Amino acid sequence: MDKIVSLAKRRGFVFQSSEIYGGLNGCWDYGPLGVEMLNNLKQSWWRAMTFRDDVEGLDASILMHPRVWEASGHVANFTDPMVDCKECKSRYRVDVLLEETSVKKKKEILRALEPEAFAGQLQDQKVIDEFALRIAADETAAAIIQNHMTCPNCGAKQAFTAARQFNLMFKTFVGPVEDTNNVVFLRPETAQGIFVNFLNVQNASRQKIPFGIAQIGKAFRNEINTKNFLFRTREFEQMEMQYFVKPGEEDKYFEYWREQRMAWFISLGMKPEWLQWHKHDKLAHYAKAAFDIEYKFPFGWGEIEGIHSRTNFDLSQHEEFSGKSMRYFDDQTKEKFIPFVIETSAGASRSFMAFLTAAYSEEMAPTGSGGEEQRVVLRLHPSLAPMKAAVLPLVNRDGMDDIGRKLTNDLQKSFRVFYDDSGAVGRRYRRQDEIGTPYCFTIDSQTLVDQTVTVRERDTMQQERIALDAVKTYLAERIL
Ligand code: ATP
Repeated sequence: MDKIVSLAKRRGFVFQSSEIYGGLNGCWDYGPLGVEMLNNLKQSWWRAMTFRDDVEGLDASILMHPRVWEASGHVANFTDPMVDCKECKSRYRVDVLLEETSVKKKKEILRALEPEAFAGQLQDQKVIDEFALRIAADETAAAIIQNHMTCPNCGAKQAFTAARQFNLMFKTFVGPVEDTNNVVFLRPETAQGIFVNFLNVQNASRQKIPFGIAQIGKAFRNEINTKNFLFRTREFEQMEMQYFVKPGEEDKYFEYWREQRMAWFISLGMKPEWLQWHKHDKLAHYAKAAFDIEYKFPFGWGEIEGIHSRTNFDLSQHEEFSGKSMRYFDDQTKEKFIPFVIETSAGASRSFMAFLTAAYSEEMAPTGSGGEEQRVVLRLHPSLAPMKAAVLPLVNRDGMDDIGRKLTNDLQKSFRVFYDDSGAVGRRYRRQDEIGTPYCFTIDSQTLVDQTVTVRERDTMQQERIALDAVKTYLAERIL
């Protein structure tokens, strides 16, 4: 992870937010290459999800009527139990505290909590971990934590407060008066913007069920502990799609979207063995089924997307809270009903980090002088790579630079392309490898004679000569 965070900063993928003021926890800024890659990722998702007949796009506002969040259950339930250390004032999410504690400590806590349930089972690490997480939401678990755990930050013993439920929504006020009537929330998910617009979109687009609405946008959660770079942040982007189906058809579409979403990650270069399904055994009361796609991060498996079968819960809630019908009229059967929903909910920022991590590789590569040296290469899928190509005149004279400039200008009409005419060409290749540029076009003395250039491919480092006027087509065929 350290290497990836350091590369991300050095090469301008991701910076700490407000770094000159010491940073703001849980917030990150995407630099020149990061914003390109993030846009490419979102564009790829948008293409996969909306360039089809049955899904429409939407861009809803971040601030919404506060009743939305009462209807959705976020005001009452979007909480995590947390404890504070009375000595150093550090705040912890109970489940995270438990997750990160030693096995020995976990056993001690679990034994104290439920001695009978655990007799004989405490040898199995998986049982311990699962149980630790299950009890984390429980108030009594927090009391036990109070008695048994030391603060990881200052080492104080038995210094934790009782557990409190902490709402993860950021609250603010509309207009100049800060009173309860003017409270609004920064949305903690993009999905509700889709639900409240369900009939607007359906009427405007004349879609018939089954159909979906897709949206990419910022979401905010006042996470108690932020950690692992972009994995758990307070401001992040989601790519969500709600697919509205006839009740009774939800299982079929749930399976369909599970397949589609897994295939999308693999189509962008993820190896199947780096991904796994995590089935939720404990479901929200309204949910029928929920699976997460998890990626094997350097710190362990972590969710990058959730696929949920959500019944008609959200639309029914909005019907009840708003007093407006959320019913779909089926003009063939003449029935009116509230559709069921399959949701695909991916984090753009988390997926960005997964793709960056998956792409990072270090290997030995031959130098021009017959030796070997280490090269860092980001094996990003070409459609995600921030720069699609680099144009490298061998020297910046003899007309090579003019040809290089002209080629760059031409390519830049369609692609992000980097022009570099300084330093040894081997070093220039390495700099492009490190940011994942899939192709380098080198202009040398032979170009002046026969109008051909060398193409060097990032992963194999193999080179071939192609005609200068074929470069654009060559790139388009491989990138788009
Ligand atoms: P977690 O259990 O990790 O908090 P979650 O189950 O609450 O996640 P969802 O509400 O299902 O997550 O959100 C859908 C997606 O949004 C997640 O798969 C993840 O990619 C992304 N996401 C959620 N919370 C964060 C966060 N704090 N930082 C970055 N991405 C997030």
